[in-house]
Amino acid sequence: MTIDHLRRNFLQKLVASAAVVPMLSSTNAFAQSDRPGTTDGRQGATLRVALMGLGSYAERVAEAMQSSKRARLTGLISGTPSKLQEWGTKFGVAEKHRYNYENFDRIKDDPDIDAVYIITPNTLHRDQAIRVARAGKHVICEKPMAVNAREGQDMVDACSEAGVKLLVGYRMHFEPKTLEVIRMRKAGDFGSIRFFQGLCGFRIGDPGQWRLDKALAGGGAMMDIGIYAINGARYMVGEEPVWVTAQETKTDPVKFKQGVDETIQFQLGFPSGAVASCLSTYQMNHLDRFFMTGEKGFAELLPATGYGPIEGRTHKGELTQPHVMHQTLQMDEMAGILLDGNTPVVPVDGAEGLKDLKIIDAIYAACATGRRQELRLG
Ligand code: NAD
Repeated sequence: MTIDHLRRNFLQKLVASAAVVPMLSSTNAFAQSDRPGTTDGRQGATLRVALMGLGSYAERVAEAMQSSKRARLTGLISGTPSKLQEWGTKFGVAEKHRYNYENFDRIKDDPDIDAVYIITPNTLHRDQAIRVARAGKHVICEKPMAVNAREGQDMVDACSEAGVKLLVGYRMHFEPKTLEVIRMRKAGDFGSIRFFQGLCGFRIGDPGQWRLDKALAGGGAMMDIGIYAINGARYMVGEEPVWVTAQETKTDPVKFKQGVDETIQFQLGFPSGAVASCLSTYQMNHLDRFFMTGEKGFAELLPATGYGPIEGRTHKGELTQPHVMHQTLQMDEMAGILLDGNTPVVPVDGAEGLKDLKIIDAIYAACATGRRQELRLG
């Protein structure tokens, strides 16, 4: 490479970073004053987060953020005035930072919000994410990012057009025992990976809940819990699948209506020849296990994706990494990604969310047709 090339590359990088400075400095106008020793003693610039959808998982995230070193709850979006009042008081969010679903586009003019974390029913994610992006705020969206790849692509495009980042709430991507298995796999400790098994499910209760309503959930167990097996297969094996086969069974067609999957078994094939066999269900308990075997060793996580502690072992012994509340760790790491441009070991961006949605689309197509579906995840 010539000196000219080097100089041109350097200048291009300089221009590129200068281009993002105005966005960061305007959305982070208050972040400087949140540095340690100035206000609340958190480490580095603070990510100021508004929560959208004040349900059960949002409550867990709000509580987890209280011990986050880098993320702080600064805004609330809900359709229920009493919840805004109650959460505002409990978490110290002033009235001027509380919004409803009609007026939340106004966060555009709220300098105390850097990102909105969308924790609403699945089919709402797409439109809400697009509105947040257009308001110039980073989007953190719960899994599944959307209910199909077409909608996921719309979100990726909207965030890219608005110059904001899109992250998906994949908390397992920061979990210490999971990361240790990934480190060992990369170091060659298991040899060439041959097989992964992901068992994900629970017996769902109340038949009236949104998770069993296709209009809000976009599907059934696959959208909610099966996605962990899909995502886990990818980060455990460390490859992108190239084909999928799937079979659906339904024992309760009243509770699990048309378009709401109860139980799906699916298989994934990877370029190396490794295969995965997975189960997604809303009809059985005691299913939260990842197992992977390679030419030289194995790893097991059991439980693999619950709120923890995650437990696990490999052919070398028990995994002993300490448990940290997943959502606290996730918010600390996401602050680093959004504010400092950090790169996580396993991606949590829109492209990552989109891959899982393409696989979900293919799983449903395989169930409907009985035929193997080829995957091109790029
Ligand atoms: P929830 O039912 O407890 O909360 C959903 C919230 O959305 C409620 O406050 C509800 O009032 C609000 N809402 C807004 N518009 C609504 C509408 N039109 N219909 C119904 N509710 C509406 O659900 P949850 O368990 O908090 O799940 C929310 C999202 O979080 C889902 O996408 C789910 O997959 C995800 N989630 C992720 C994890 C994880 O571990 N990452 C865990 C649980 C849930």
